[in-house]
Amino acid sequence: MKVKIAFLFLLLLPALNAQNGRQTASTIVTGTIITMDAARSIYHDGALAIAGDQILAVGPRAEIEARYEAPQTIDADGKLVLPGFINGHTHVPMTLFRGLHDDVTLNDWLYKYIFPAEAKNVTEDFVRWGTRLAAAEQIRSGVTTFADMYYFEDAVAEETKAAGMRGVLGETWIDFPTPDNKDRAAMLAYTEKFLQKWQGDPLIHASVAPHSIYTCSQKTLQDSAALARKYHAPILIHVAEMKKELDDSLKNNGATPVQYLERIGVLGPDVVAAHCIYVNATDRKILAQRHVGCVHNPSSNMMLASGVAPVPEERAAGVAVGLGTDGPAGSNNDLDLMEEMDLAAKLAKISKMDPTALNAKAVVEMATIDGARALHMENEIGSLEKGKKADLIVISLDEPNAVPMYDIYAQLAYALKASDVETVMIGGRVVMNDHKLLTVDEEAAIAKAKEYGKKVAASLGME
Ligand SMILES: [Zn+2]
Repeated sequence: MKVKIAFLFLLLLPALNAQNGRQTASTIVTGTIITMDAARSIYHDGALAIAGDQILAVGPRAEIEARYEAPQTIDADGKLVLPGFINGHTHVPMTLFRGLHDDVTLNDWLYKYIFPAEAKNVTEDFVRWGTRLAAAEQIRSGVTTFADMYYFEDAVAEETKAAGMRGVLGETWIDFPTPDNKDRAAMLAYTEKFLQKWQGDPLIHASVAPHSIYTCSQKTLQDSAALARKYHAPILIHVAEMKKELDDSLKNNGATPVQYLERIGVLGPDVVAAHCIYVNATDRKILAQRHVGCVHNPSSNMMLASGVAPVPEERAAGVAVGLGTDGPAGSNNDLDLMEEMDLAAKLAKISKMDPTALNAKAVVEMATIDGARALHMENEIGSLEKGKKADLIVISLDEPNAVPMYDIYAQLAYALKASDVETVMIGGRVVMNDHKLLTVDEEAAIAKAKEYGKKVAASLGME
C-alpha cells in the first residue's frame, strides 16, 4: 500500500530536467500577477507555472523561471494577470431574449412577458445556441466560471463544457409546467439523471435550482434541496429579491424569506442565494452561520428597481458575497462582470451617500475570491495560488482608458473594460488568445441569435 501511494505521488510531480535542474511545467505565464490570495499578494515582475489544469507555483519571475521550464509561455509583460472572473448568478440561454421587454417591473416582466415567451420558444436547440452566444460574451469579458439557473440545463452543461468554461449549472424547479418538464415526476427524473451524469466532472458542477419562495411551494423547496443533498450538489435560488416577496412571506409564512428558508431546512453551506436584498440583521446572521453564499447583481437590481442589497453589512456579518450579472434579458442586458464591479461600488456609495461604503478592492474581491466563496468553490478557484485551477485572464493596458495606472484595483473596478481582456485560460486550456475565441464558433452563434430574434418576435406577435 505504501509503495502504491509513493508511486502515485511521483506521477504527480513534474518531470525534472537533469541538465539544468528545472522542473517541466506545461505553461509559464509572466506579467503583473494579481493573485487575490489571503495576503492579496501582487508580483509586479511575476510569473506562474502551470501543469495540466493546475497552478504549480506563483511568485517573482526570476524565482519561477529558475525552477520551471515549459513548452508554452504566455508573455503578459506590461499587462495584468488575474484569476478569471466569477459570474455568480445568471440565466445564460436568455441571451436570445436580450432586450425583449425592458422598463417594466420584475413581477410584470416575469408573468406578462418572460414566462409566456419561454413557454412558446424555449427548446433544447434554443438553450444550446443561447449558451454558445453567452459563452462567447462571457469569455470576452474575462468570466471563467458562471452559475446558471435555467431549463434543459443538461444542454447548458454540454455547451459549457464544449466552450471549455467552468459552470455551476442548476436545473430550475418551479411550480408550473416548464419548457423541458411538464410535471413534477418528469422534473425529478430529469434532474436526477442530470446530477448523476456530471458527477466528478472537472468543469461542470450539476446543481438544483428551486426558482424562489414565491414560485415554489414548501414541498418543492424541500424536495429540491433533498435531491441536491443526495448528490452533494449545490442549491441555487433567488432570495429576498423583491419587496413584494418580503411582504408576502411575512403575511403567508410569518417570517422573512431567509427565516422561512431556515425554518424549512433549506439553508446550508451548499446554498447560493442570488440577490439577498431584503435581509435584516437577523437574516444576515443566519446567512453567515449557515455559510450561505450570496450573489449581488447591481445591474439587475437597478434596472428592475428591486432595491439595494446591504452588501457592506453582509460582508461585515461574515457572509461571502459574490457578483452576478443576472439574466441578459430584462434585467441587465449583458453578461459583463467588469461592469458589475463598477456598478456594485457606485451603487453602494450613492445609496449610503458615502464614497467609502464599498471600495475598488472589495468589488475585485467579489468578482474573484469572494465569488468563489459564494459558490463554495474557494478551494478550487478565485485566486492564483499553488494547487488551484489554472483559470486566469490577461488584461491589456494599451488602450486610452487604461493609462496611466496608479492603483491596480481602482483601474480594474472603474477604468478597464471587458474589451481590454485579451487572453483567457480555463483549467490550463487557452480559450481566448489575443482576443480570438478558440472554443466557440462566435460567427455561427451571432447569426443564429439574429435568426432566433425574428422567430421570438413573431411568436409574440411583435412583427
Ligand atoms: Zn435571476
